[in-house]
Amino acid sequence: MIAGGGAAGMAAAVGAALNGHETILYEKNEKLGKKLYITGKGRCNVTNACDTEELFDHIVTNGKFLYSAFYGFSNFDMMTFLEENGCPLKTERGNRVFPVSDKASDVIAALERKLRTLGVTICLGEPVKELSLTEGRCDGVVLSKAETKVSADAVIVACGGLSYPATGSTGDGYAFARQAGHKVTELSPALVPFECAEEDVRSLQGLSLKNIEARVYDGDRILWKEFGEMLFTHFGVSGPVALSASSFAARILKTRTLAMDIDWKPALSLEKLDERFLRDFEHAKNKQLKNALSDLYPSRLIPVMIKRSGIDPEKRVNEITGAERSRLVHLTKSFRVTLTGLRGYQEAIITQGGVSVKEINPSTMESKKTPGLYFAGEVLDLDGVTGGFNLQIAWSTGMLAGQSV
Ligand SMILES: Cc1cc2nc3c(=O)[nH]c(=O)nc-3n(C[C@H](O)[C@H](O)[C@H](O)COP(=O)(O)OP(=O)(O)OC[C@H]3O[C@@H](n4cnc5c(N)ncnc54)[C@H](O)[C@@H]3O)c2cc1C
Repeated sequence: MIAGGGAAGMAAAVGAALNGHETILYEKNEKLGKKLYITGKGRCNVTNACDTEELFDHIVTNGKFLYSAFYGFSNFDMMTFLEENGCPLKTERGNRVFPVSDKASDVIAALERKLRTLGVTICLGEPVKELSLTEGRCDGVVLSKAETKVSADAVIVACGGLSYPATGSTGDGYAFARQAGHKVTELSPALVPFECAEEDVRSLQGLSLKNIEARVYDGDRILWKEFGEMLFTHFGVSGPVALSASSFAARILKTRTLAMDIDWKPALSLEKLDERFLRDFEHAKNKQLKNALSDLYPSRLIPVMIKRSGIDPEKRVNEITGAERSRLVHLTKSFRVTLTGLRGYQEAIITQGGVSVKEINPSTMESKKTPGLYFAGEVLDLDGVTGGFNLQIAWSTGMLAGQSV
C-alpha cells in the first residue's frame, strides 16, 4: 500500500506490482502527479543523463544513503522505463532529460499506463489520515474519509515535502513519520529565491543576466560559487544561480545573514577589466560618466553602479581619476548583496530536511524502527540541485521501496 501518488509513489507502485504484490495507491488529489505537471516549467526534467556515479556529485544532503537506490534503479533505468512505456526522451544542455514532446503530461501518462497494466488499484481523492501501528509494526493506514482502517503487509509513505502545497505536498508524510517515532530533521524551503536588504538591488527588478558569477560568503568563508544566470526581482535575487545557492545557504540563513558578491564580468581579470575601462573611456572621453558605460553594463545597472561608486554621474570621463576607475573595476567584480532570508515554501522547488535517513535502511527504504513501514522521495532528508536530480531521487527511492516490500 502506498500513500501519495507523486513521482516516488508511482515508482513505488510500479516496483511493488512488478514483484507480484497486490498494490493499492492512495492519492489525495483528484489526479496522479499534480506536481509533476509543473516540473521543468511544464516540460518535466525527468532525470539527468550524466554517468550514474556522477549523480552523487549533485546531491546536496545525504548522497551516500542513495548508493543502493541509484544503482538499483539508475537514471538510465528510468530513461529506458519511460521510452519502453511510450514516452520518448531527449537530452538537452547539462545532460537534462526531457520528453521529446516537451510535455510533462506524457511522463505522467506513461507511468499511469504502466500502473494500470500491472493492475495497481488507484484510489484518487483519498487522503490517508494516519498510519495503523500494531505491536510496533505498521499494518495499514486509516483513511480520512469515513475514518476506515485498511490493512496491508507493508506501507510506503511517499507524501512529498512542503513545497508548492497547492500540489498536495502539505507535509503529511512528516506527521506519519513522527507517529511511528521517527526523527524529522529541520525543514527548510530550498531551490528558492533569496530576499535581499539593499534597496538598489530591488530597483533592478526584471533584469536578467546570463553570464555572471555569484559567490556566497558566510563572514570571510566562501560557502559556494557558480557561474550562470541570475534574475533580479522586487524582493531580491532569483534565477538558476540563486536557486542553486539557496540549497547551501538555507540552514545558515535561519540564524544570520549571508553576503553574495556578484561578478558582472567573470571572464575578465581585474587587470583586463581595468584595460577594458581605459579603452572604453578613451573612446568616450568627452562624455559624462552616466553616458559612457553602456557597452559595459545593461542600462538598468548603470545608475546603480555609479551610485555605489560614489562618482558624480555628470562627471566627464576624462576627469575620472585612477582611484575612481579602480572603484568601478572592483565594484564590477564584487557587487555585494546582503542575503537576509529565503522566500517561502510557496515558491520553493523542494523541501530540505525530512525523515532522518539514519533510521531508514538504505538497501530497502524500510524503517529501522517500525517493520512494514517504508519511505520514499522528498519526504526523506535528501535533496539535490536542479537538473533532474530531485526527480531521480524520487524514482530511485520509490522503485527500491516498492521492490523491497
Ligand atoms: C515548480 C517545480 C518544478 C520542479 N521541476 C523539477 C524538474 O524539472 N526536475 C526535477 O528533478 N525536480 C523538479 N522539481 C522537484 C520535484 O518535483 C520533486 O522533487 C518531486 O516531485 C518529489 O516527488 P515525491 O513523489 O517525493 O513528492 P510529490 O511529487 O510532492 O508527491 C507527493 C504526493 O503525495 C500526495 N499526498 C500528500 N499527502 C497525502 C496524504 N495524506 N494522503 C494521500 N496522498 C497524499 C500529494 O498530493 C502528492 O501527489 C520541481 C518542483 C517544483 C515545485
